[in-house]
Amino acid sequence: MVSEFILHIPEGINFDCTGCGNCCFLWPVPLTDDDVKRIGSLQFTEQKFEPAHIIKTGVPGSAGQNSFAAALGKRWDGKCQFLSPDNRCEIHSQFGAPVKPSMCQLFPYTFTNTPAGVFVAASFASTGVLYNRGKPLAEQREHLQETFELFKRLFANLKPDWSNLQLVDGQPLIFEEYLEFETGFLNALSPLSSERAEKILIGLSKRIFGLIVNKRDFDRVPGVDVKPRTIDSLVLKSLMATYFPSDVYRENTCDIDSAALARNFVMPPDKVLLDLDSKQYGFSQLTQYSLGPLNDDSENLLRRFAYLKIFSKLYFGAGFAGLSLLAGLNHLASVIALVRIVLKLRNIDSKKTGREISFEETAECVRTLERRLTVANFSKQSKTILEVLLSSPERAERISSLAS
Ligand code: SF4
Repeated sequence: MVSEFILHIPEGINFDCTGCGNCCFLWPVPLTDDDVKRIGSLQFTEQKFEPAHIIKTGVPGSAGQNSFAAALGKRWDGKCQFLSPDNRCEIHSQFGAPVKPSMCQLFPYTFTNTPAGVFVAASFASTGVLYNRGKPLAEQREHLQETFELFKRLFANLKPDWSNLQLVDGQPLIFEEYLEFETGFLNALSPLSSERAEKILIGLSKRIFGLIVNKRDFDRVPGVDVKPRTIDSLVLKSLMATYFPSDVYRENTCDIDSAALARNFVMPPDKVLLDLDSKQYGFSQLTQYSLGPLNDDSENLLRRFAYLKIFSKLYFGAGFAGLSLLAGLNHLASVIALVRIVLKLRNIDSKKTGREISFEETAECVRTLERRLTVANFSKQSKTILEVLLSSPERAERISSLAS
């Protein structure tokens, strides 16, 4: 029985499983108690597996009665034990989709509950979503309604609070007002646009900045005498370490090292270096070489990523770290610029700075970013520091210029 609710479905987003098996590699699959019982009792017709290997995480999740206190163990090669050599899920093949772990049934969809209804999103950790393959989500309404019922059961205690929205820290914003802004944001990011995603976002952020009643110098950290460009470099270093760590799979929690960031403001280092892929890069390397625009498919992917974050409201307020609308837009612009910076540094490292970056390289960077954003769990300190540092559209613009 499907309950009554308004389900808003994004335009221009497609998904069908490509059968790549990527979501069944390395990524831990959390299990509810029901999943553990159901999967533990399966009798496979051809027993190719050891009995289901389930690990207790010892971390009761936030999903209420269906907390995820266990996870599927992985094989020695990091793949799910139920993934066949031809990248098929053996549980799905032998017993049907509803027998799979709940999170596998849900993936790649997610839902944001708001006072204006439920907004559907899909994860860019999925190859189908990254490549925009398959049926438009708008044509999958029935399936999405059923999947939302599963989401509600799994996250029964998840009740996002949209009553404390802020345009910027200290300036409240009511949800209905926000929705009016959002219409403009989504139009700006339409598939007809050919501008870079982060430039569109920075333009929107500047418009929001114009509406701030009590402006202060958002380029500076209150009470600390550090130059704005030094702050830029420290912010970028911190975002890089958070979203592109040396081992994205091993580091299964995601938070800013706010204590280290705050320490650096008091004693700014002479030279800030960026850490990526276990190597270090100076900022001068970023300005010596120009990346230029990516190919059309990559630029479309970055715009689609921005569009879906805006549509699903997973970039500010109850959707992300409690950020204000202004800081949320600047954070989103900065992390998209970060994708370009990662591609640029990898090109510098390969000593092939003139070559065109392939769509596949861009897609893998977006997949990593999405995985990190999905597990982001920021402390109160991190949220505060992000709000302070990312309320400046100029900062997001300077970070974006390093990505050019
Ligand atoms: S249970 Fe099936 S769908 Fe889930 S991760 Fe394993 S192989 Fe993939």
